[in-house]
Amino acid sequence: MNLYKNGNYTVMIMNDGTKVRYTKEDSFIPSFAENCDVKITDMCSQGCPFCYEGCTKFGAHANLFKYPFLLNSLHPYTEMALNGNDLDHPQLEDFLISLKRKKVFANITVNQNQFMTNFDKLKELQDNGLVYGIGVSLISGEINDDVIHHMRLLKNIVLHAIVGILTEKDISKLKNKGIKILLLGYKNLKRGVSYMESNSHQVMNNMSYLYEHVYEMTDWFDVVSFDNLAIDQLDVKRIVPEDKWDEFYMGDDGHYTFYIDMVKGEFAKNSLSQERYPIGDMTIDDMFKFILEKNQD
Ligand code: SF4
Repeated sequence: MNLYKNGNYTVMIMNDGTKVRYTKEDSFIPSFAENCDVKITDMCSQGCPFCYEGCTKFGAHANLFKYPFLLNSLHPYTEMALNGNDLDHPQLEDFLISLKRKKVFANITVNQNQFMTNFDKLKELQDNGLVYGIGVSLISGEINDDVIHHMRLLKNIVLHAIVGILTEKDISKLKNKGIKILLLGYKNLKRGVSYMESNSHQVMNNMSYLYEHVYEMTDWFDVVSFDNLAIDQLDVKRIVPEDKWDEFYMGDDGHYTFYIDMVKGEFAKNSLSQERYPIGDMTIDDMFKFILEKNQD
């Protein structure tokens, strides 16, 4: 378990990855970001037709050491969620070593194929404390017991599934298998736009199924969590009692977290936001403060 003070509250991160905030005040006011969603590459061989980052096998990698002010100003025990086909990045391991020295928790997301192909490497990264949590993005229609078995062999592992892509059939294969699932909202951005145009009927059907069954999913999975877009798309608030909502809701995007695109050298409130700002010589705190001020506009 790790504890740290941030603004007027204390954050506790338990060994299973659960995060709890405490304060004696009426609201939680942070001094620095708890979590940054960071894109480190536009290169990905997987070619998902709905990829909102528009990644391709010809996409560019970020130079992960181009922004020393950013790297040197990270706060211990905060989290960095690294997205994209991370394992192909030639600087990934050195970057993870730098994060570990700063006592920053690195979480990485890989898709289901990458997870199976790179299982030993991921295990080694986790065993060496270079990676804390692992997100495995579901490939709809291709989940099987072998993937589920391998997921059980690692710690702090969460299946990522996109609202509108996750099907009833996927859920029936996944349910009651001791899995933690994170539901991510469908992003109408880049390839997400064309995919929605060509497959709107199927996407809407999948969304409707989830909307109807999201409450039951809490029985079928060990943990069900949501990003803020999924909370909106599934109207999760309707199924959570008010006192529980106050306890579990982790805040709007840009209030405790923000997004950094290291490939383009930009930061924003979240990955969906088109209002982006240059990283330049800013520290992590400069960027977060900037986003907090933008929230007031
Ligand atoms: S959605 Fe993820 S796995 Fe698929 S192409 Fe985009 S980055 Fe690659």
